[in-house]
Amino acid sequence: MSRNSSTWPLVLSVFILELGCSPGGAPNRTATPVLRPSILFVTLDTTRADAVGPDAEGVETPVFNALAARGRLFARAYTTVPETLPAHASMMTGLYPAGHGVHENARTLRADHEVLAERLQATGYRTAAFVSSFVLARRFGLGRGFATYDDIEAPERSARETTDRVIDYLKTPSTEPRLLWVHYFDAHAPYAPPEPFRTLFAKNPYLGEVAEVDQQLGRLLEAFQKDASGPVAILVAGDHGEGLGDHGELQHGNLAYEPTMRVPFVLVGPGVEPGVSRDPVSVRRIFHTILDLAGLDNPQSLRRTSAPEVVLGEAMRPFLGYGWQPQVMAVAGAQKVIFAGRNEVYDVVQDPGEVRDLSASVTPTRAIRTALQDYPVPAPGVAPAPAGGLSLDDEERRKLASLGYVSAGATPLIRKDAPRPVDMVGLFETIEKASGLFVREEYRAVIPLLEKIRAVDPQNLDATLRLATAYSSLGQDLQALSLFEKAKAIAPLSADVKLYLALHLARGAGWQEAGSMLEKTIEQMPERLPALEALARIREREGRSREAMALLRRIHRLRAPAATELVRLGQAAMNVGETTSAIEAFERARRAQGVDFRSDLELGVLYLADRRFEEARQSLDRVPAKHPEYAMALFKRAQVSVLLREPDQAARIERARRLADASTRELIARERLFVVGRPE
Ligand SMILES: [Zn+2]
Repeated sequence: MSRNSSTWPLVLSVFILELGCSPGGAPNRTATPVLRPSILFVTLDTTRADAVGPDAEGVETPVFNALAARGRLFARAYTTVPETLPAHASMMTGLYPAGHGVHENARTLRADHEVLAERLQATGYRTAAFVSSFVLARRFGLGRGFATYDDIEAPERSARETTDRVIDYLKTPSTEPRLLWVHYFDAHAPYAPPEPFRTLFAKNPYLGEVAEVDQQLGRLLEAFQKDASGPVAILVAGDHGEGLGDHGELQHGNLAYEPTMRVPFVLVGPGVEPGVSRDPVSVRRIFHTILDLAGLDNPQSLRRTSAPEVVLGEAMRPFLGYGWQPQVMAVAGAQKVIFAGRNEVYDVVQDPGEVRDLSASVTPTRAIRTALQDYPVPAPGVAPAPAGGLSLDDEERRKLASLGYVSAGATPLIRKDAPRPVDMVGLFETIEKASGLFVREEYRAVIPLLEKIRAVDPQNLDATLRLATAYSSLGQDLQALSLFEKAKAIAPLSADVKLYLALHLARGAGWQEAGSMLEKTIEQMPERLPALEALARIREREGRSREAMALLRRIHRLRAPAATELVRLGQAAMNVGETTSAIEAFERARRAQGVDFRSDLELGVLYLADRRFEEARQSLDRVPAKHPEYAMALFKRAQVSVLLREPDQAARIERARRLADASTRELIARERLFVVGRPE
């Protein structure tokens, strides 16, 4: 049953005086204050190791430098993935992507991976996070364990604005130690620093962003240290660097060279010996270090010096998205090996620019060879990580392969002609441009770029799928379907291909077929929002209101609801007679929409059913005379009038009768409140 003028009054008319119930109060929780440090963890997005710190060229970062002087500077810290979400997922779980399953942005960290904030919250820490990009919105799974998770639906928020919000938050004092994570996104492209850095860094706006972030970091540190009454620990780390043209890469994500893999990292806190550490370390160990700082002793903590390890990393986007060679990095001592179809070997201490590939003369160490051989390559677009991904704490006991990311023994699909990412740098700029246009839904403009990518690299799954979606969104179904066929041929098992095809069908006459496809997609990827959103619409169209409600609620656990969705939730709840839920949804929609709220009739009817006559009166009085169901509003208003014993009730009944339509005439004739007339 869909909402239209012939069926809707029926839904309204069945709402007769029901009683709702209200939920109980939340349980109390007490925490014992202990003298553990308050911990500030700051992530600097897109910040190269050589753009920050005392040795940085072309920019001053006095705040970071002062921290480095107070604490331990890790001069050779490596990210696990040169991409925001997977890198943060590693820092928050202590796992390589093979362990936590997030190899790219726009995936979701599965709920069965315990994250840092959950551990600290359980021991009485007051947890809060402030993130500055949509890429880290709570829907992607990093919000768990944070009592406050201040995220955004917009692409970017400035460091100044984020810092303002943190400072505001810190005005509420805490008797518990804090875990505060703050993420700054400014250094990410496009580079547009505010003044004075816009002028000062007119020739290098990227460094201007870095300088601005350093200044905001200063404001943040001041507020944090002023707030803390006990000891403090501070960690500042990059999530990945930026190519800036090195090795042919402008941004990040497609290659595994030093400019994008090596990040700044400084650690300040009780028991941390000041100085500079030159052993390679992975930022994933921030997880273990923070646990240790919080009193949860951990052998992988970086607070103490530990045995050198093989540091691993990966850049799988070209493999997962375009079908190119999977790319894994291993670093031990001065030696760094990048494996992508074949090995490149560098001495990154002698040759930090990685210009001399030593692979013809130097054999990688045994430890590096073993680590690379065992590094699990994900299966593109197929299954997410299995439940209970193992921790790399077990590294000493097990080989990396035992992480078992690749599900059910599936062999990763590497196409025979898969190019090495470094041989495809000529396409990077087009890919990055196309990606930006696609995300902004500029489909007409993106088509020629995607066609160009496909002309060079016809097996490129991302380009094929995006092209199909662009044609579909422009209503060019034949081109879209032909490209979906090609995408299916490239990656027969890809859940993404199925998802985008289903979304295409949902747009047109095949929408009912799309329903079962989306259900399967959701089974595989339970937190994929576009699938949940499209299926909710289909269930609404089919009149399957209970299922639609459940889907809308799932969506709203992943992100803040849009006002229009609250209206839809209210309507679905009303369709199945759930008065309390319906009232709650409509009330939230009204608060969000203000004067644009259009569901006063529904809300009035619901209040009446809930015997909240005064609120029913107010809502029904707001229904405008031009409302298509105005006759229903008059009828309901007359009922309320009798129940409230208003002096003009007779006139209201008369008016409802006079202006009755097919939906209300019969109801008025049978209404006992009206027959009895004025109650004594
Ligand atoms: Zn990032």
